[in-house]
This record gives sequence, C-alpha cells and structure tokens, in this order.
Amino acid sequence: QKAEWAKLVNEKTVSADGYYVELAANIGTPDDVKGVIENGGEGVGLYRTEFLYMGRDALPTEEEQFDAYKTVLERMEGKPVVVRTLDIGGDKELSYLDLPKEMNPFLGFRAIRLCLEMQDMFRTQLRALLRASVHGNLKIMFPMIATLDEFRQAKAILVEEKEKLQAEDIKVFDNIEVGMMVEIPSSAVIADLFAKEADFFSIGTNDLIQYTLAADRMNERVSYLYQPYNPAILRLIKKVIDAAHKEGKWVGMCGEMAGDEIAIPILLALGLDEFSMSATSILKARSQICHLSKAEMEQHVEAILSMSTTEEVVSLVKSHL
Ligand code: PEP
Ligand code: MG
Repeated sequence: QKAEWAKLVNEKTVSADGYYVELAANIGTPDDVKGVIENGGEGVGLYRTEFLYMGRDALPTEEEQFDAYKTVLERMEGKPVVVRTLDIGGDKELSYLDLPKEMNPFLGFRAIRLCLEMQDMFRTQLRALLRASVHGNLKIMFPMIATLDEFRQAKAILVEEKEKLQAEDIKVFDNIEVGMMVEIPSSAVIADLFAKEADFFSIGTNDLIQYTLAADRMNERVSYLYQPYNPAILRLIKKVIDAAHKEGKWVGMCGEMAGDEIAIPILLALGLDEFSMSATSILKARSQICHLSKAEMEQHVEAILSMSTTEEVVSLVKSHL
C-alpha cells in the first residue's frame, strides 16, 4: 500500500470519474514545508501562525515574521499558501499578553476578536505578510469570524496597511486573496452573505463541530457528542460549499475531517475544492480519491443528509468504500 501511495507524490488528485481536487497540508512552522513537499502536497491550506508567537516571552517582531512567511512561500515554490492570522486564545495562551482568566476561553476574547482590539499586534503581522506576498503565492485568512462586521474590519485594516506600505514604496502583491475560516456556526449559516465578500472559505471543522454541538473539543466527558458525521455538521458544510460556489468562490477544509477516510467521499460529493490535512495523510487521501467516483457518491448525498444519526452515515459510506 505504502509503495502504491509513494507513486502518487507528483500526481494530481483526480477522482475515478475525472474530477480534480487540491490536496494541501496544515503546517505550523517553516520547517514543516519539507514534509509537505515529500508527501506530495499541492499547497499549504493552513499555516497556523500562532506557533511563531508561542513558547517565548515577547511578541515576534515584524522582521521575524517576515522571514518566516517568506521562507514558507519560497520553499513552496509558487504553490498556494494560506496563512491564517493569529488564532490565539481558547487552549492556546500567550503568557506575555497578560490577559485576564475567563470562565469560557473558547467563547471568549480570542483570535480575530483579540486582533481587532490589539491592533498594533495585528497590524505588525499584516505588514509582515504583505511584504512577504511578493515571494510566492500567498493567501490570507482570518480565524474565528462570527460576523460580517468582523470580516469587514479585518479586511479594512489589511487594506490600510497595504496602502501604507505602498506609500513607503514597498512592493506588495496586488491581488492577494483574502478569505476566512468558517468555524463558527453563525458564519456557516450566513455563508451566502460572506461569500459575496470573501475570496475563499476554509471550513474549520475542529471548532465548527465543537460549537455546533456545544461539546468542548478538549473534554473527554462530552467527546461522544463531538460528531463529525452528524447530519447537522454535514448540512452546514453543504450550505457553505453551495453558498461559495454560487458566488464563484472556492472552499477548502482545514479541520481534521478533511483527511478522514469516512468524510472524504462525502466531502468530494458535496463539491469541496481543497482538502488540507497533516502532510502524512495526503498520499493516502489521494489514493482514496483516485478510486472514488464523485458522481456515484453524489447519488447518496441526499440520503446521507437525511440520516438521523452518525452511525447510519458511517455505515452507508463504508458500504461504498
Ligand atoms: C479548526 O478549527 O478546524 C482549525 C483548523 O483550526 P484549529 O484546529 O487551529 O482551531
Ligand atoms: Mg479553529
């Protein structure tokens, strides 16, 4: 099996009936790029920049960030790289920010909420990204977007920083795609509105599942409620993909579900454009997709979305693997 997968390193991911999807990788540091290339990743679907900020006692400077972003872009040699702006909070703390303890950190002051308030920090990251944009194929993505207003504010700040750089005669790529994570149910529900303003979506199922089923992703006691194949999740995913496609935008997924062998046939049938996963899952997923017929899976979508339990979904998909 491993030998068969290895042959797929330089291949495209095309289903048995000729439908192309992109398989990308999730990374945390520039050193992770090596694994992406070795495993045949066609891009980086999620660069979690928070690792640049963690395990130290002060914020990373603009130069440090610029170096990291430029390195990733260069090592990816023109392949798409989706960089997510700082997603701190929840379980990821930065001690040097000295933020007050919260009762519900996953529902609290985190990610884009924190960036829109601590704007110096946010603007520094955006400047580093904009400067790096001429070194590869950069796409910028904002995490934890709950409302249109947040997305608009984040985009407006990005535009301001871009104009400042251009006024300083610093080169910035002109057409950077700007997208968002869909990981909060509110944004999935109004994905049609977001799709008019975002260049792309990336569905963050790790959080989308936790928020939709109200089950803390870290809490063992409620892990039975953490159900990727729950029809509520699948319907939300369909809604997001359909809304994006209606506006001609592409949709990726960067949560764990994107590399899951039961989820993949469903996501393929729903029309997901990009699957971003840990690098070591890419070849297995490519092999699986090459053996699947999208048209055949599409015939089961309606039934899957009408099922009442996770178990029914799993058994139907398994019977087609
Ligand atoms: C997600 O929520 O699905 C996601 C990819 O982001 P993270 O796991 O970093 O919260
Ligand atoms: Mg998340």
